[in-house]
Amino acid sequence: MNDPHKLKAPEKQSINFSFREKLNGMAEGFRHNYCYQCGACVADCPSSIYSNSFNPRLIILKALLGFEEELIKVDSEIWNCTNCYTCSERCPQEVRPVDVIIAMKNMCVAEGKAPELVTNVSDTVLTDGITTRITSVTERRRKELGLDPLKGYAIDEINKIIED
Ligand code: SF4
Ligand code: SF4
Repeated sequence: MNDPHKLKAPEKQSINFSFREKLNGMAEGFRHNYCYQCGACVADCPSSIYSNSFNPRLIILKALLGFEEELIKVDSEIWNCTNCYTCSERCPQEVRPVDVIIAMKNMCVAEGKAPELVTNVSDTVLTDGITTRITSVTERRRKELGLDPLKGYAIDEINKIIED
């Protein structure tokens, strides 16, 4: 039976160092270089528990080999990471797999390869300062519950933080 956690490598594989250089240039991306493939990051990873194909060790191995086309795309497995940081606590090498995954997610965004769901949320943060739009239904429910109307958000300040 096929093991989904095994890397299906072609017979001859050359390492794509230019991708690794690019990853090194992203915030925290350089950490992938420290991975010695022990697998400690996998055991408590919730995405690995619920998915047969998600595996942070394998993702870091693909980064080490420079599998750019597999990792940097709209439907890349990296988008199944919940950013829970459990792997970060388990890794003995301080790779912080989640930070490497975030670096690759940022790479996807920079190259226009992020899923629409993700870009919708980030657009809402930029325009409204929150991740979920406040609708008239929300306002009505708040009123019914005796809650104050929501105040405006400091969009200028949020954008300044993002720019800095
Ligand atoms: S941050 Fe991502 S890779 Fe790390 S344990 Fe959580 S879901 Fe798994
Ligand atoms: S725990 Fe750290 S060193 Fe071990 S496989 Fe995961 S990322 Fe690599």
